[in-house]
Amino acid sequence: MKLTKLYMPTLREVPSDAEVESHKLLLRSGMIRKATSGIYTYLPLGYRVVRKIEQIVREEMDKSGAQEILMSAVQPAEIWQESGRWEKYGPEMFKLKDRNGRDFCLGPTAEEYFTELIKGEVNSYKQLPLNLYQIQTKYRDEKRPRFGINRAREFIMKDAYSFDVDKESMEKAYMIMYRAYERIFDRLELEYKVVEGQNGPMGGNKSHEFIALSETGEGRIGYSKTSQIAYSDEKAPVNYTFTDDSEPKDLEKVETKDTTSIDMVSKLLKVEKNKCLKAIDLLISGKPVFVFIPGDRELNFEKLSEFLNVAEHEIEVMDEETIKSCGTYPGFTGPINLKGQVIIDKSVTKIANLVVGANEKDKHYINANYKRDFQGQIADDLLMVKEGDIIPGTNEKYEFARGIEVGNIFQLGTKYSEALNVTYLDENGKSQNFYMGSYGVGVTRSISAIIEQYHDENGIIWPLSVAPYQVIVTVINPKDKDQMELGEKIYGAVENLGYEVILDDRDERAGVKFKDRDLIGIPLRITVGKKAKDSIVEFSKRRDGVNLEISAKEAVEKINNIIIDNFTGDLAVSLEKMVKDGQ
Ligand code: ATP
Ligand code: MG
Repeated sequence: MKLTKLYMPTLREVPSDAEVESHKLLLRSGMIRKATSGIYTYLPLGYRVVRKIEQIVREEMDKSGAQEILMSAVQPAEIWQESGRWEKYGPEMFKLKDRNGRDFCLGPTAEEYFTELIKGEVNSYKQLPLNLYQIQTKYRDEKRPRFGINRAREFIMKDAYSFDVDKESMEKAYMIMYRAYERIFDRLELEYKVVEGQNGPMGGNKSHEFIALSETGEGRIGYSKTSQIAYSDEKAPVNYTFTDDSEPKDLEKVETKDTTSIDMVSKLLKVEKNKCLKAIDLLISGKPVFVFIPGDRELNFEKLSEFLNVAEHEIEVMDEETIKSCGTYPGFTGPINLKGQVIIDKSVTKIANLVVGANEKDKHYINANYKRDFQGQIADDLLMVKEGDIIPGTNEKYEFARGIEVGNIFQLGTKYSEALNVTYLDENGKSQNFYMGSYGVGVTRSISAIIEQYHDENGIIWPLSVAPYQVIVTVINPKDKDQMELGEKIYGAVENLGYEVILDDRDERAGVKFKDRDLIGIPLRITVGKKAKDSIVEFSKRRDGVNLEISAKEAVEKINNIIIDNFTGDLAVSLEKMVKDGQ
């Protein structure tokens, strides 16, 4: 492609509504444009990246035995009503009606659609296992579309659905997808961690999230430096180590004027924070629930919602009036003689002589002891992980990082096949529900994750595997016959090798060309300048910018070698992994 012909509307100014680097750079480099809030157009360079990622995903899916199909983005309401998700999915779902008033949605995902697809067509265990996927546009009316294509309302997702005879085969299918995802994200050259995902309201079923590390990520993870262990912070298990097994002393009510926080009461009574009980006053589905944890920790709402088996959005913090109407006082809630459901983090049961609120203004109890003075439902672990915590089962402290979820895999069991009543006949001719899995890759979100990891102050630094073009040949002065001829020659030679190359033949200042080339991040570059008549050019990589003065022939050879090495590099990674896993 010649730059004089390429539609690449670059911007000099940083767009004001772009908060993160990936969004700014995609706009500035003329790869995307905003169509409307959370909805984007992919311009030629950007769309090439989309297709590169799609192709990597496709190759790895095909390699693992999955088969590609394409379903419509328009889905009938009935299947969602059958699964119960028509209402449950909430306002994120784009709903629409046809001219006859029939309800549809624009698919945010497609568990129901795929399950319905095979209904009555896959009838026998002999047709299993089956894994079908599509790479297709998804719609979610996100509450806060942000960071450009990272959290969009329309985005491209690869979604796959596996169908198996039983739990064991489902787990096998899941493992195959897990491995495929590792290969996909390795080939995208993303630095990522795999964390165990949320169990969902049913519990029990496994899921994993693939998290690309990035400071701009919306999620935080806790992980081990030396092993594969990694958790989202909402999941990270906490072994609270502080205990106090001293003899229980006499319970005593004391005056604690205006000490509405743990900090204040700990200072006033000169008692360590971990010995002051923290109360969290909540309303869950309208019912008062009081949770107690050590004063130096925060409550993990996700763990609480799992413990109580309620959705997180049903948990509300109680307002002051309601707290008073429960017979206690804001800032002074304690578990002694408290009306309502009391939940106690297990760690609290191992700490003697606690300071606890007395459920009246300006009063606390000292020397409160679990069992003797208060009781409640004991939860194993409701604590939010924090700096310094040890990873349970190791001697190692958690490391923390932020990240972007680029992939998610789920074991679904029979949830959807039961809801939609989809069955097959087993070896004994008995009707059985399919065991399913679902597997998503954020194709377009991966682009922003890659840019977050690969950029500098001048622009994008594409990994070779996803770069819109692998090579750019910059002709400093296109009016100079020698320069233009050599530029064209190199361009032709690289194209003949089967690589993707841009020729910058624009009549622009060298500075402008260099700036643009940095901005759009083409990995390998050849500059044709004054020494063109001796067939001498400069070769450099976007990654390090180091200039080598070599002959045009050597430069083309170099490009060939680098690209070939990069291919074997990918292969080497997956081979190494396979050997490690004993496959
Ligand atoms: P998130 O928690 O970020 O909202 P999710 O868990 O709802 O994502 P999934 O239902 O697991 O997302 O979808 C599969 C993949 O699709 C995600 O891992 C992510 O890469 C991508 N994805 C989800 N929502 C969006 C979005 N709004 N914009 C772009 N990509 C998205
Ligand atoms: Mg997810």
